[in-house]
Amino acid sequence: MNHRRLSIAVALVALLSSLAGMPARAAERDVSPEKLVDPSHLVEVSPGVHVIEDRDQIVLVPNITLITGSDAVLVVDTGLGPDSARRALQTARRLAGARRLYLTTTHFHPEHGFGAQVFKGEATIIYNRAQRDELMQKGAAYQRLFSERLGVAAALKDVRFVAPDIVYEREAEIDLGGRIVRLSHHGRAHTQGDQVVSVPAQGVVILGDLLETRSFPIMPWFPEIGDMDVDPLNWREIFRAVALGHPKVVIPGHGRVGTAADLAEAARHLDVVRAEVTRRCAAGQDLPTMQKELVPILRAQHPDWDLPQWIPGEIQVHHARLCAVAPAPEAGRS
Ligand SMILES: [Zn+2]
Repeated sequence: MNHRRLSIAVALVALLSSLAGMPARAAERDVSPEKLVDPSHLVEVSPGVHVIEDRDQIVLVPNITLITGSDAVLVVDTGLGPDSARRALQTARRLAGARRLYLTTTHFHPEHGFGAQVFKGEATIIYNRAQRDELMQKGAAYQRLFSERLGVAAALKDVRFVAPDIVYEREAEIDLGGRIVRLSHHGRAHTQGDQVVSVPAQGVVILGDLLETRSFPIMPWFPEIGDMDVDPLNWREIFRAVALGHPKVVIPGHGRVGTAADLAEAARHLDVVRAEVTRRCAAGQDLPTMQKELVPILRAQHPDWDLPQWIPGEIQVHHARLCAVAPAPEAGRS
């Protein structure tokens, strides 16, 4: 394991300057208030681990976690755009006092990382390499996609992409002072650069959009912008790896903070989808028929889960990975 310890004394390694875009302006913004992070929802879920909780399951408002130590405070995720990020930064400053700040993001998606510019120069920003590269590759396309389709152009109009100060490959640790945080990257799943953040000594794990509590999973499949990188099979393997750490407090990307039971339930759901799609492929069923028959079955298994509109996409993504057409035999071979 390429296991690097990033103590707070480590010299900053600035890998890139600003990637693109215009500086933030203080102009008035027409931001729908319900998309803003609400610091009054701050709750301590384990000693020194605070979450601005998405307790109302508001679309595009993520959970933001702030982990405190005697020397430093780590912020995980920024909210959608600079206005939410400023609220997260103010909350972090209030908790941290004079202690130094770190920022990392669970993955590059807009509501999780498109406020990082607010932290630049205020916090040491740490990403894994895959996430940094994916932000560079897809960030602008996602800014357009979210602005045009999801009605959050105002929240995103001043976004510019900033480079992390430290980049790691597979695993890193931050010693916040009496509290060790582990950052790890397990390959692509919800995105190419998903990061699992954990406080192993306390059984706390932060999963970003690898888990939404009481919700069907979000499996992005956007061929129109060339993003078909989601991997539901490795996603399941990440759940297996996370479960080995016996988590007690499981912090999702969206929805209320959960437990190991939420992780197990999400894993079981992925197993069901994989088994159903595999069986139906073997029987020669095409994708539209599969979606027509399987959506109501999956929905009935979790009638209280949010985001059922993502089920057809989840089936499509599994179909793409599990039902590949066998390559034609090479010419000249018998
Ligand atoms: Zn996401």
